[in-house]
Amino acid sequence: RTVYVNGDYLPENEAKISIFDRGFLMADGVYEVTSVLDGKLIDFDGHAARLERSLGELEMASPVTRDALLAIHRELVARNGIDQGMIYLQITRGAPADRDFAFPDPEETPSSIVLFTQNKPNIADNPAAKKGIKIITIDDARWGRRDIKTVQLLYPSMGKMMAKKAGVDDAWLVQDGFVTEGTSNNAYIVKGGKIITRERSHDILHGITRAAVLRFAAEAQMQVEERNFTVTEAQEADEAFITSASTFVMPVVEIDGAELGGGKPGPVAVRLREIYLEESRKAAV
Ligand code: PLP
Repeated sequence: RTVYVNGDYLPENEAKISIFDRGFLMADGVYEVTSVLDGKLIDFDGHAARLERSLGELEMASPVTRDALLAIHRELVARNGIDQGMIYLQITRGAPADRDFAFPDPEETPSSIVLFTQNKPNIADNPAAKKGIKIITIDDARWGRRDIKTVQLLYPSMGKMMAKKAGVDDAWLVQDGFVTEGTSNNAYIVKGGKIITRERSHDILHGITRAAVLRFAAEAQMQVEERNFTVTEAQEADEAFITSASTFVMPVVEIDGAELGGGKPGPVAVRLREIYLEESRKAAV
């Protein structure tokens, strides 16, 4: 596999990053995951815009322009022959000579940028989407700026492990009794035909898939309400689902042991998945 590191396309085993890189030492970095369908990028502009915002919030400069970033994405897709899959992008604050909590001078320490592809032949034709996934809920013990897409992913990883140990697929995070989002996705419930999802704030990542799905839902005359919901409300909902760049729209059929919709994916989630895949394929670049 060919990867991209700081200006070079290299075989993955030749790519190198310094041990002093603040991404490695301090999780001082941001990332994006963009899906690839039929060899094309889904919502590249949305991901690029969020990346610029994440960098800005952390006072980091982008090492490349948006046009250059698009060219790198396309080059990696071509070199690795990716038809269905995704591209991971990470920018970290680079490698100052010494470890220090204060940010280094960007003139002296340029940021690092890394991209690689993952081949996922079943990304759109995911068998899990036909069955739906089961989730548990856990305390949201992450930091307070979840709107910045940083690489500090230890707690979400722990959440995935808690789910795995509980014999389910994923976990939803709960703060003050209300669901924030999933470990690596946004969370939704459907009640009486209305789609309910938490409003955007520092508490959740502003999902690129979320923005597209809410737009498509409104265009399809579906009702959308952006507000907090509790775990009990979710368990009593008609259906539930998650969204992310790697799962698109994924039905949820069980929450903390309570079955939704008779344990089958609900019609709203199924329809939104179809619309999302169709519309985003049309707009892919
Ligand atoms: N929320 C969290 C915490 C995430 O990590 C992700 C994706 O990684 C999402 C939501 C979904 O965001 P997107 O739709 O942009 O992939």
